[in-house]
Amino acid sequence: MDIFLFIDIYFAVTFTLLGIVIGSFLNVVIYRTPAGRKFSTGRSMCMTCGHELAAKDLVPLFSWLFLRGKCRYCKAPIASRYAKIESFTGAVFLLSALTHLECSWFLTDYSNTVLLMFFLDYVLFVIACAAAIAAMMIHYDTQTSFFRVTGFTLVPAVLSKFVWCFMRNGAVTGFLKELLFLLLYVGGTVIVCFLLSLVFGKKYTKNDLYLDLSFVPLLTFSLFTGLTRTWITIACYAVVYGLFRAVFKGRKADRYSGIASFLFVVILIIIRYLIFR
Ligand SMILES: [Zn+2]
Repeated sequence: MDIFLFIDIYFAVTFTLLGIVIGSFLNVVIYRTPAGRKFSTGRSMCMTCGHELAAKDLVPLFSWLFLRGKCRYCKAPIASRYAKIESFTGAVFLLSALTHLECSWFLTDYSNTVLLMFFLDYVLFVIACAAAIAAMMIHYDTQTSFFRVTGFTLVPAVLSKFVWCFMRNGAVTGFLKELLFLLLYVGGTVIVCFLLSLVFGKKYTKNDLYLDLSFVPLLTFSLFTGLTRTWITIACYAVVYGLFRAVFKGRKADRYSGIASFLFVVILIIIRYLIFR
């Protein structure tokens, strides 16, 4: 087999499995964040019989499939939602790997710093995607947003700028310039959403701000749009997303705005892949 094809497949499969594992962690984040609980404490147990779950019961997605959606001990059905979020995260990671195959080239040459930077930027991008999925599901469940989840899309976006400046030897001034653009994109989107809220006579709360901040950073990754097209993509996103939020705010359909927004980002990734490749 062609070595590059092998590396591409290895890259896609590894990141899909990683996505499924991270999806399993997201289930915990989505469940515990609104309750104000810590992510890392407490053992997992069956919600029906209270039996403590063994490691073999906790393999993300695969345990659920193997046990056909039932508890090993009391046979009570286990909600498919956990498996769905794991599959969705895996699918997002697979799609992102397939549309960023060039990021796998680092695996053919570990000494190449440019390829390393591509790879690092890709890793930061999928971390931000995972956080956006958590924000989207928490909003779906509770119509609330939390800054500690939002922060996980903002921080990788800032680190990504650092990675790119290091790669292009842009040093500190280059980094500050990229950071300024990041602030303009994110701030600009928030202002558009705020203004559209006013136009439609809806209140703009801290909750709205955190939700808006959860998705925009995904679009600022250099890998994602190509360096020069970023502002066009973000302007389109801000208007469509802002309109959607402003129209549906406070209505039943608003719970889908996080999901709609994330799917919109996914569509933009595919468009970018088809156009700029
Ligand atoms: Zn049970």
